[in-house]
Formats: sequence, C-alpha cells, structure tokens
Amino acid sequence: MNFYSTNNPNHLVSLKEAVVKGLAPDQGLYMPVEIPVMSEEFFDKLPEMTFKEIGYEVIGTLFGDELSNEQIKELVDHTLAFDAPLVELEHDIFSLELFHGPTLAFKDFGARFCSKLMSILMAGESRKVRVLVATSGDTGSAVANGFFKVEGVEVIVLYPKGKVSELQEKQFTTLGENVMAIEVDGVFDDCQTLVKQAFLDKELNEKMLLTSANSINVARWIPQCLYYFYAISRLPKSGKKIVVSVPSGNFGNLGAGILAERMGLPIAQFIASTNINKVVPDFLGGSPFASKPSIGTISNSMDVGNPSNFYRLLALYANNEKLFREKVKGFYFDDADTRNAMIKVRDASGYIMDPHGTVGYLGLRNFMKMNPGEYIGIFLETAHPAKFKSVVDETLGIDLPIPDRLKEFMKGEKQILEMGNDFGEFRVFLTTDFTDGHR
Ligand SMILES: *Cc1c(COP(=O)(O)O)cnc(C)c1O
Repeated sequence: MNFYSTNNPNHLVSLKEAVVKGLAPDQGLYMPVEIPVMSEEFFDKLPEMTFKEIGYEVIGTLFGDELSNEQIKELVDHTLAFDAPLVELEHDIFSLELFHGPTLAFKDFGARFCSKLMSILMAGESRKVRVLVATSGDTGSAVANGFFKVEGVEVIVLYPKGKVSELQEKQFTTLGENVMAIEVDGVFDDCQTLVKQAFLDKELNEKMLLTSANSINVARWIPQCLYYFYAISRLPKSGKKIVVSVPSGNFGNLGAGILAERMGLPIAQFIASTNINKVVPDFLGGSPFASKPSIGTISNSMDVGNPSNFYRLLALYANNEKLFREKVKGFYFDDADTRNAMIKVRDASGYIMDPHGTVGYLGLRNFMKMNPGEYIGIFLETAHPAKFKSVVDETLGIDLPIPDRLKEFMKGEKQILEMGNDFGEFRVFLTTDFTDGHR
C-alpha cells in the first residue's frame, strides 16, 4: 500500500516512509492511495471470527504487500492483546468498551500497533531508532506503554514539570527499560519545541533515526478500524440499519470508522459527537470549516479547536462535502448535558460512563430519538471512568474504585531525568546511550 499527502495527491510514499515521517513534508496527512474492499466471504464468516482473526484478515488485506504473514500475526497479536466488549445499555443501544488496555483508553490500540510496526519496518536500520514524544499527559502514557519492551525502538517522553497529574506521570515514568522520561523545567510548549529542534538537527539525524509516533501517524490511525469490524460482528441480528457514534476531538477515531465502512463494513450512519468544541458539528450543519481556539470542558481529551484529521475525513469522502454531511451527522453537548446523562444512565442501569463516552452516548440517543425504530446503535466508550475519577466522583457522588492495573502504576518508582528547557542539554543527552545501563 502506498500513501499520498492530502495536500498533494501526486506525492506518493511507501508505508515505511509514511510511518517514519508521520506528517508529509507539505504538512498534509498521509492517506492510502487505494482502499481495498473486504470480500463477501469475509463478511459471511465475520460473526464467527475472533477479534484477532479479524485483525489478521483486515491488516493482511491492507499491508499484505509489505509484511509477511508472520509479521502480520506478530503485529495483530501485540495490538489486540485485550478485548473490546460490546455491552447492551438500553434497547438497541450498545457501549463498545475500548478501555481494557494498559492505560485504560482506546489510544492503546493505535500506540501498540504503531510500536510493533515501527520495530518491524526499522529492523534493518543501522541507526538507533528513537521516538520522541512531548506530552501534557495522556499521549505520553499510551505511547510509552505501547512501545514498552518493543525491540529495536527507544522512547523518550518529555513532559512539563508539575503540569501532569500524578497518575498520568506514573504511567510513563515508572516503566524503565527502553522508555526514558524527561521532566522539563518549563511548559508543554517548551517540550514540543525541544522535540522540533531535535528533528531539525541534521547531524543528530545522521546518527539516529528520530521519529514521532504522533496521533496523525497512519500507524496509529489505521489499526483503529479493527474494533469497528469486531463490534459490528457482535451486534445481534436485527434487520435494522447500523449507526455508530464516536466521541471526537482530533477525529482520528471517527476517521478509522469511516475507513472500515469504505472497506465494506455495513455502517449506515456515523455520528460525530463533541463537547462545545464543535467546529465539526458546525461544518456538518452547513457552515464552512473554520478552526477556533479550544475551550476547556470535563471531556478534556476532546478539547480541540482545530481537529488535525478533518482533511482526512474529507478525503475519505473524495472531498465531496455533500456526501460527508449525509453520512456523518454532528451533535454537541455542554458539560451540564454530559453530567446529567452520566447520572441518568447510572440511575437507570448502574452503568458508569466516563465523560467522553457520555458525549458519544448523547449523540447516539439524540439521533435515535429523531429516527425511532429504524436503527441499532453503538457508541464508543473511549476511556475507563476511573481515568476521570474526580469528574465522575463529583458528578455521581461516589468514590469510584481505581482498577488494579492503574494501581500497579502507582506502586512503581518514578525514574526520570530532570532537564532545563535548553536544547543544548537535550542534544547532549540524545548523543549518549542511556538505555545500556538499564539492560
Ligand atoms: C483522544 C481521546 C478522544 C478523542 O479521539 P480522537 O481520535 O482525537 O477524535 C476521545 N476520548 C478519549 C478518552 C480520548 O483520550
């Protein structure tokens, strides 16, 4: 599979180049040149297939030219190491729980796939392969855990001192081995600047292969299509049309759902559900696309005013805005709507939703009310409620227990390197072999 840049359809690159670069040099997003359609035979046997079997076939269809069967198996086994159960909440309304991975959020799927794929694609590389991540919290934990112990790749996480919650910090500072955490005396932007300076340093890049594993990387984006296939395969046969609601921020997750649909998966309707950062619902309602500064909400992983995957969504509909607006409906909700729904659902069924999943639930509920009896629906529950414990506790008046795998992180010992926000210091660090002492 080759990829083109959304800014230039004639700029074609290989899978390896798309993964190493992340973003095209013209700042465009990489997109598959062709989207293959899965066979009828595949869809016939889908309900009997395991999550991993689905993964082998879908990834095999996408990357069969670049990867051997063993590599595809290794990749899928590493990525789908935990389940994504579908839970019926109400009549015809299902929660797809994507939070059973190591950091309790759906980003684990993309991060795990990306790490393994990089390790496979860079196997022949003589230079050291290093992933640099600047984080204000969640990305660092998903990427660090995804790459933990993956051979041939080292991860360096830079985070602003005192600006990350203790739980988030523990998730990437206690791992050790091939993961190094650097506490920067500065703010998030300083971390990002250090990473950018490293990428621009010619001499450094001759010595080592620096890459970013950021959220728009195709290696993080594409594998997210797998749980859509799995979820639809587990829905009861109802004869009704299928609608999927995706709580969205940068819109990578929704884009992966559309990719699955373009590969033949029968999803009749998508719902783009957001908090009050609603530039995409506004666009879908007929306005021109216009980015805005982001606004803080209780579903803060979706506080995005300039969603980086917007042009990827448009490209999936061949830049046909009319078709895009037909297939995807937008809904947005404020914090009060979100808290009310969390309470209502808990009171009705005992099910505790995190604020992000709740926004997805609300979009689905609203759409189904407007189209009674026609659809069976799924919303993506993107994080475990304990990840947003303070909001959940405060809203529901409870003391939500922290899952064991989160508690494990709290027990670990923080191992970090402290650094100023000066590139010279970071550069010296990069030229040393920091991992050798750990092995
Ligand atoms: C990142 C994130 C989202 C938004 O996903 P996008 O792919 O950026 O739209 C939603 N919920 C949670 C919990 C997240 O961490």
